Amino acid sequence: MTQTAEFQDGAAYSGGVFMPVAEAKISVLDWGFTRSDAVYDVVHVKDGRFFRLDDHLARFERSMARRRIAIPESREDVKEILVRCVQLAGLTDSYVAMVASRGRPQVKGSRKPADCANHLVAYAIPWIDVIPAEVQERGATLMVSDHPRVADDAVDPTVKNYQWSDLTSGLFDAVDEGFDTAVLCDARGMVTEGPGFNIFAVIGGGLVTPEHGCLHGITRRSVIDICAKQGIACRTGDLPRTDLESADEVFLCTTAGGIMPIARIGNRKIEAGAPGPVTRRVMDAYQAMHEDPAYVTFIDSPTRFA
Ligand code: PLP
Repeated sequence: MTQTAEFQDGAAYSGGVFMPVAEAKISVLDWGFTRSDAVYDVVHVKDGRFFRLDDHLARFERSMARRRIAIPESREDVKEILVRCVQLAGLTDSYVAMVASRGRPQVKGSRKPADCANHLVAYAIPWIDVIPAEVQERGATLMVSDHPRVADDAVDPTVKNYQWSDLTSGLFDAVDEGFDTAVLCDARGMVTEGPGFNIFAVIGGGLVTPEHGCLHGITRRSVIDICAKQGIACRTGDLPRTDLESADEVFLCTTAGGIMPIARIGNRKIEAGAPGPVTRRVMDAYQAMHEDPAYVTFIDSPTRFA
């Protein structure tokens, strides 16, 4: 891909126009800003290919529907806008975001959400890792935070959203105590997720990942698919904090980082290593999925926005 200096930090789409990412701005009166009233999704491009783009678009649409946000662009429009952003940015590895914001009321002084003009912002920027690559290399250290995850009934975690105050508190606690990141539990002491990732525990050769209190991540889905294909036992459901703390292996997973092994939970080192043998198997299979035509969309496809 060729990249012009103008777009070297990335390309964005906002208000129906493409621009260098630094020029993309939203109003301080946008409810996406004043109330975190927005939904979003993030898909990655690796070696010039989107991974599971249609799954991300489907989840984005579902998130919008759940929050009663409707943007003018169709699904096909959004897809082509994302492709165009990556093309303009000239990136072969990219973090690509789509955000649907509530916007501003079109009736002066209105407090009714339905009066707002919902709108799409999208951007493609150079690849980001939720856990830095060098930390992934040695295995991350994980704190099980005492800060509770917000209840599913209050903020639906399956809608990808920016209401991150609990996750951010967990992250502050973790970093203050010298850990790389944190995972939060719900009021029942069941593990949920962390700031930007799902979690799997390997217990007795099988995998367990939480079902409640978390986003149903696309990477999590890939891991579940890998287990089904390879005959690895995998259960979605309650994961008590104590089971995580005594697990044989633990890994985090997300679009922006893939499968990320944990080397230590609290004060306990994972004896199997980071990655341990089961995690290694999942990592290899996840990498191989990126070569499978069933999951990839090439970024050089023509768009109506060229
Ligand atoms: N959980 C949260 C809170 C996230 O923000 C993310 C991704 O950003 C994930 C889980 C992982 O989801 P995915 O695998 O779809 O990237």
